[in-house]
Amino acid sequence: MLTKLGARVSLVRRPEELAVIDGLVIPGGESSVMDKLARTFGLQAPLEEAIASGMPVYGTCAGLIMLADTLLDAIDGQQSLGGLDVVVRRNAFGSQNQSFETDLDIPALGEVPVHAVFIRGPVVESVGPAATPLASLADGRVVAVEQGNLVGTSFHPEITGEYRFHEYFLGMVRAA
Ligand code: GLN
Repeated sequence: MLTKLGARVSLVRRPEELAVIDGLVIPGGESSVMDKLARTFGLQAPLEEAIASGMPVYGTCAGLIMLADTLLDAIDGQQSLGGLDVVVRRNAFGSQNQSFETDLDIPALGEVPVHAVFIRGPVVESVGPAATPLASLADGRVVAVEQGNLVGTSFHPEITGEYRFHEYFLGMVRAA
């Protein structure tokens, strides 16, 4: 998605790789594993420093969990990087086969609704004063937030070719 939108993309697994980029996407996956690997490979502190120093970071699904200041239903000992003033509950919609797709009205991204794919996604259970909700489900539960250099979504927009979140993120990278 980022390449299609004109960005140069590289993978980040080690601190040296983080040091040369201008913006970071923390993708979906399994946040408890990302947390363990980030700590094993010495990436946790550099990631926290990058977030604190204003590097634009977009977290989708597990990435949103990594960016949340407070986690609910984390595994024992699981840590997040933090940065977003939110409480996020992991696996809030149930198991993998309760995954679903829905359309979300997100005025910040234009009139056409965003087609959002939720794959064992988290929900933003509460939004602190520093963060701003960007999207909610029909029942009011928040599923996208932003705060300064950080954006997080409970869902995967990229799977269906929805590019506006990534375009929004790249705008932040260019501005920074
Ligand atoms: N359930 C996963 C977690 O807790 C997130 C799933 C996803 O990224 N699609 O990290």
